[in-house]
Amino acid sequence: MEKTFSIIKPDAVKNGNIGKILAIVEENGFRIVAMRMTKLSKSQAEGFYAVHSERPFFNSLVTFMTEGPVVLLALEREDAVKKLREVMGATNPANAADGTIRKLFAESIERNSMHGSDAPETAAEELKYFFTGVDLNQL
Ligand code: GDP
Repeated sequence: MEKTFSIIKPDAVKNGNIGKILAIVEENGFRIVAMRMTKLSKSQAEGFYAVHSERPFFNSLVTFMTEGPVVLLALEREDAVKKLREVMGATNPANAADGTIRKLFAESIERNSMHGSDAPETAAEELKYFFTGVDLNQL
């Protein structure tokens, strides 16, 4: 079993798609291990996306990620990181495969409805960034 980290982003929360996205996640065999609805602070969003700090879209991305509530998720299944990236679809919804979460719900390359960790090492860091050991181990 592997864990991955995910965020239902502000566009998807605003558009009323939390339930639909969680249903797709569960239908694809993921167990929800921890879940918290919150609004990210500027410093939380900047820290989370620090790897992109030199990109031209960084400020816009941070503004977007802090514009409204998000849902933070710890998800578990076999091969969770890779499988969630498949279920989520390509970063740009224009390139995302039919039936993927981003194809179904994303508004644009930035407002793309969901985050999913890109590697097991990143997943471990991102889970630690937002969840405590108690959240992840108690269930
Ligand atoms: P991901 O792993 O598929 O989420 O993609 P990246 O790690 O490359 O980018 C992180 C996030 O930044 C994406 O999910 C988008 O919300 C946003 N993003 C990526 N590329 C662009 C871009 O070219 N323009 C804008 N405005 N946002 C982008």
